[in-house]
Amino acid sequence: MRIVYDKLYGDHLRGIPHPEAPGRVEAVADFLRRNGKFEDVIAPRDATAAEIERVHASGYVDLVRAEAASMADFAGYLSTGDTVVDVRSFDVARRAAGGAVVAMETAMHEGGSAFAVVRPPGHHAEARRGMGFCVFNNAAIAARAAQAQFGARTLIVDFDYHHGNGTQAVSGAGLSYVSTHAFPAYPGTGGRDENYALPKRDAIVNVPLPPHDFGTEAFVALWERLLPIAAAHVRPDLLIVSAGFDYVTGDPAGDLGVDVGAASHLGALIDRVGREYCGGRVAYVLEGGYDWDALARSVAAIIDAHGAPVKGEASGAEDSAIPAAQRELLETIEALD
Ligand SMILES: [Zn+2]
Repeated sequence: MRIVYDKLYGDHLRGIPHPEAPGRVEAVADFLRRNGKFEDVIAPRDATAAEIERVHASGYVDLVRAEAASMADFAGYLSTGDTVVDVRSFDVARRAAGGAVVAMETAMHEGGSAFAVVRPPGHHAEARRGMGFCVFNNAAIAARAAQAQFGARTLIVDFDYHHGNGTQAVSGAGLSYVSTHAFPAYPGTGGRDENYALPKRDAIVNVPLPPHDFGTEAFVALWERLLPIAAAHVRPDLLIVSAGFDYVTGDPAGDLGVDVGAASHLGALIDRVGREYCGGRVAYVLEGGYDWDALARSVAAIIDAHGAPVKGEASGAEDSAIPAAQRELLETIEALD
């Protein structure tokens, strides 16, 4: 799998005590390098203003640029809310969005998969405000670029511990969204009452989970039911994966009680569904994951799953492992029309 990475991704919040730290992507890059998976690296570019402004208001982009520039030797909150930035954040966030776009372009041109190992993450960022650790919505920007450049319809697949409120808010008109996430938890959105079938086969599909101890087999079995249902409804040309690994047991900002090994099954599933509907076109974009070791091993597992010689091997996760509440919700989702 092609990797999109830039040393610049370490420049945002360097030296600032913050869980969304430069060491996250540096640990991933080091681990991949040590394991011979860092040979096919593509340099990203900055997202253009036009690309960012398909998702964000130009006034918000200007605000991020100006407020980041005003921070000399300190970090502070964006005036739109709870997002910490420093003097480098605008440049890094713009290239994170560009990294997601380059991963998408690689997937579209080559009919294969790519992984944008970027930060800051993006799925909480809304059109007019940063939220959480997110400045620009990298996955949504890549999806809109796919639409503008290739006329592609995208399904964004979000398995991060947290709900991607920002992505959901900009969904529709060729962009669909399917997510599992802890509920209730930050940011408080993503209840089942927010599920919609949108015009022209688009959809917003949320499966809220209990905030802890969901378990590996239940998580894998749930996705093995959920993703084919969502893809069959949307029939996308491209999958963009909001790949957050804070669901892993012990993650300091998440923890659904799911093993690192779940990523192998998620990767195999996404590869299979990507081949069935999208000619293999899959772009991963890094979101959360704050246990660096678990994060690095999860990304490597995804890469291995896509390169595996045996495709579509069943995980062995049993449908019966899915709790009744989520199983019942899956039936509702199956009926989305
Ligand atoms: Zn998260």
